[in-house]
Formats: sequence, structure tokens, C-alpha cells
Amino acid sequence: MYCPQCGKDVAEGAQFCPHCGAAVPPTVPPPRGADRFAYLPEYWRTVFGKFDQTPARMQTRWNWPAFFFGPFWYLVKGMPVKGALYLLIVVGTAGFGLFLAVYAGLYGAWDYYLKEARGKQLW
Ligand SMILES: [Zn+2]
Repeated sequence: MYCPQCGKDVAEGAQFCPHCGAAVPPTVPPPRGADRFAYLPEYWRTVFGKFDQTPARMQTRWNWPAFFFGPFWYLVKGMPVKGALYLLIVVGTAGFGLFLAVYAGLYGAWDYYLKEARGKQLW
């Protein structure tokens, strides 16, 4: 390894450069667990630290804000594509609800008529 200060060769595991005396950072892998997310609030550091223990396996953690705010939560958390997709699905579902309302408005009377007049329902 090499001294980050003077660039000369330094023995592996040395804490200080023998040439210039600069402190040599220990050659450890990047911090794992909660430290990696030091910029995040305590809550997410805890959650992500737990996720980090088995990052290959998809894990869940119930999230009320995501449940309530859905697409906006994704947008706020910096996942605009997922947020937009979510929003499309929400809008699409609301559209389906509107479709049902229109159907009821158009055919509700007829459905009621069939039931009362002929004692039958289409479904
Ligand atoms: Zn040095």
C-alpha cells in the first residue's frame, strides 16, 4: 500500500507513514450497517442496518407513511419512477371506481328492473 500523503510505499498495516509521518488510514472495507447511512435519521439507520445483515434476501418492514401517502412517499424519498408508477396505478384504480359509478348510473335502474320485474339478476 501507499501513503496517501507522500505516495511512498508503506508497510501493510502501518498506522503512520515512515517517510513523512502522515497517518495512514486502515485498510478496512467501507463501513457496513448503520454507519453507511449516517446521513439518514435514526429510524432508517436502524431499519437499513437490519436489512444490511442479509442484503440478498428481500425484506419487509411495515411503513405507515408509505401506506398512507403511497406515491407521494416514494416521490419524497427520491424514487420518482416508482412514485409515478404508483400514482398511475392509483389513478387507474380510481378510474375503475369511476367506471363502476358510471355503470351503476347507467344500468342500475335496469338491473333493479330485472330483479323486480322478472325475478332475475344478470349476476
Ligand atoms: Zn508518507
